[in-house]
Amino acid sequence: VWNNCLEFIKDNIQPQAYKTWFEPIIAVKLTDNALSIQVPSKFFYEWLEEHYVKILKVSLTKELGEKAKLVYIIKMENTYGNKQPFTERIPSSNRNALKSQDVDVPFNNKSPELRNPFVIPGIRNVKIESQLNPNYSFENFLEGDSNRLARSAGLAVATKPGGTSFNPLLIFGGVGLGKTHLAHAIGVDIKDKYPEKTVLYISAEKFTQQYIDAVKKNNRNDFIHFYQIIDVLIIDDVQFLSGKSGTQDVFFHIFNHLHQNGKQVILTSDKAPVDMQDIEQRLLSRFKWGLSAELQNPDFETRVSILKNKLYRDGVEMPEDIIEYVAKNIKSNVRELEGAIISLIAQSSFNKKEITIDLARTIVEKFVKNTKREVSIDYIQKIVSDYFLMDVDTLQSKTRKRHIVQARQLAMFFAKKLTKASLASIGSQIGKRDHATVLHACKTVDNLSSTDKQFRKYVDDITKKLSV
Ligand code: ADP
Ligand code: MG
Repeated sequence: VWNNCLEFIKDNIQPQAYKTWFEPIIAVKLTDNALSIQVPSKFFYEWLEEHYVKILKVSLTKELGEKAKLVYIIKMENTYGNKQPFTERIPSSNRNALKSQDVDVPFNNKSPELRNPFVIPGIRNVKIESQLNPNYSFENFLEGDSNRLARSAGLAVATKPGGTSFNPLLIFGGVGLGKTHLAHAIGVDIKDKYPEKTVLYISAEKFTQQYIDAVKKNNRNDFIHFYQIIDVLIIDDVQFLSGKSGTQDVFFHIFNHLHQNGKQVILTSDKAPVDMQDIEQRLLSRFKWGLSAELQNPDFETRVSILKNKLYRDGVEMPEDIIEYVAKNIKSNVRELEGAIISLIAQSSFNKKEITIDLARTIVEKFVKNTKREVSIDYIQKIVSDYFLMDVDTLQSKTRKRHIVQARQLAMFFAKKLTKASLASIGSQIGKRDHATVLHACKTVDNLSSTDKQFRKYVDDITKKLSV
């Protein structure tokens, strides 16, 4: 049957078009009046539907009569949505279902809103593996002051994807504060509420890689088309795009297309748009169209409830005072908090030790030590002298020139503030001064920074540079 159809089609279209669009098709099966054909990609299917639906219908009707039906099977193995990190977490029963997806397109489906009854918006039924991790749900994303705005914006977006002014929704914040988790939670919730919507989670890094591959294989258009049919696009860690102008360019086009069509875009980044570097201005301005919501360091109460939730889900009991001890001492981010509690549980079960405050202290200390970068006095001198465009020798020299004295005093002030070194030791390391000089420097900096605006700015700038 299919061969006869092909003969007919071949006679009626350009040879090049025939070669491109019909030769790759594989006839799979014929049951009653339905012919199943396999096409290489969703884009391919879309193209056929758009350009060749008439000739397909005519040729098939000739073979199978008025009730002819065509079923597309889209080969998904090598398309862009597959082979991504969370596949292994999807139960195998679902996984198989997602491999290839039948799109049943009856020719007689005359939907009234369609201008051309044969162009069926069947593409909407095609499933793309979402790459979402179901464990990263809203339920598991504990609320606190630090994340309330971002979390509720996420919920609003999940309730009406593309239908709020939060488009794009940009979630930003430091490492381990829950950006990836929240981004997934939105996707998971949308999938729950709107199973028919195509949701895709992808890291900016993977997106970039796919794009580079697509360009290499001359598939740039396929790549763009693939992304343009997605309803909810989630791109994680967009700061990764900085400096990659080709990828930024293609993302700009995809973004515009999705936005214009009321599709939802969700982005995460480690910085606010204003602080992003090497991202094209036009892209940055798009990021600002919607809402940028920050995830901040969780406060003590939130840290406690995150810990309790984690323990509860793992079925582990732990004394209240230990939980509070961990929450009190690990403040930097949630990932570390979880890490500490996991190693605490592991320690106690390996060594069959009861979890005591002492054990907790040892582990927490290790954690804090390993993760906090020590700021050395050398490092402080380097940063301060760089800031004032001088070298460290000048900073240490005996000169009384005002700006050099100020730089030296600032270095002393920060050494006192950020290290455990004594005044004497700071003095000896910063140009062999005595402890009284260091003390005087600290007082001077304190005074000047409350009276002199310019000086205050020096202190703030250097604080920022030192706290990376
Ligand atoms: P980021 O992407 O910002 O670096 P992640 O989303 O990977 O951070 O979060 C790090 C870990 O902390 C994850 O295991 C995540 O589940 C957990 N986490 C972060 N925020 C919360 C929260 N509010 N409630 C529960 N777990 C959280
Ligand atoms: Mg992340």
